[in-house]
Amino acid sequence: MTRTAIVTGAARGIGAATARRLASDGHAVAVLDLDEAHCAETVAAIADAGGEAIAIGANVADAAAVADAVARVEAELGAPTILVNNAGIIRDNLLFKMTEDDWDSVLSVHLRGAFLMSRAVQVHQVKAGWGRVVNLSSTSALGNRGQANYAAAKAGMQGFTKTLALELGRYGVTANAIAPGFIVTDMTRSTAERMGIGFDDFIAGAAAEIPVGRAGYPDDIAAAASFFCSDEAGFVSGQVLYVAGGPRA
Ligand code: NAP
Repeated sequence: MTRTAIVTGAARGIGAATARRLASDGHAVAVLDLDEAHCAETVAAIADAGGEAIAIGANVADAAAVADAVARVEAELGAPTILVNNAGIIRDNLLFKMTEDDWDSVLSVHLRGAFLMSRAVQVHQVKAGWGRVVNLSSTSALGNRGQANYAAAKAGMQGFTKTLALELGRYGVTANAIAPGFIVTDMTRSTAERMGIGFDDFIAGAAAEIPVGRAGYPDDIAAAASFFCSDEAGFVSGQVLYVAGGPRA
């Protein structure tokens, strides 16, 4: 069945792969990112593959922008019942060097963003009596040096997910989280740059620590998101799936 999905942070990386995957699963997809122009590539890839997509520019941490974005999706693609809260940023630093702004911006995009988007979309999910929410957590939720802000946000995503599952289950809405390990995207590229390591060497170093012997790719995460968004996953809710090439990466 064709449904309308919103994927946040879908201009690139994991969000772009998830948007493409949900479109190939037959859904109409709103490709949402900070800058609408940056969404063009993902939208074109979906259209080239025969799918339906629109670009939406919005900051997920801004309540008014979120309300406008969800209203636009409803008007142009139909009421959204699938939501993937993927938009994210990193501002890594050891605790003693971490600024209040590093803390606030990371918590704001991940947690406030997921909260605002989910609150706006659940209206349509409850009305439809069906919905899927997928939240991006991370293996960093288990603790990661230099990421006090990000680890707190990603652990928070897990508690948020479980609570949505409890509150929205009676309306046919499931909520699950995916906790990726090392995925090759611009986010990990920027970490390599900050550490002064070539990206290929950084990927090889990460792969050496991962039980399946390779780094992850955005399509690995998109596949898990596709399952959680499917009709047949209707009895799976409140779960955190580590997609990390092993129990922890
Ligand atoms: P990415 O390549 O950096 O892409 C993130 C996207 O989110 C960017 O297009 C970015 O837009 C957008 N974004 C940032 N702030 C936003 C906001 N306030 N409103 C709307 N969009 C916003 O990241 P990724 O590696 O694909 O990561 C996607 C998600 O997976 C994130 O939640 C990340 O924390 C999580 N994750 C990633 C990994 C990994 O290894 N890559 C591992 C675990 C979890 P701009 O380009 O304009 O900033």
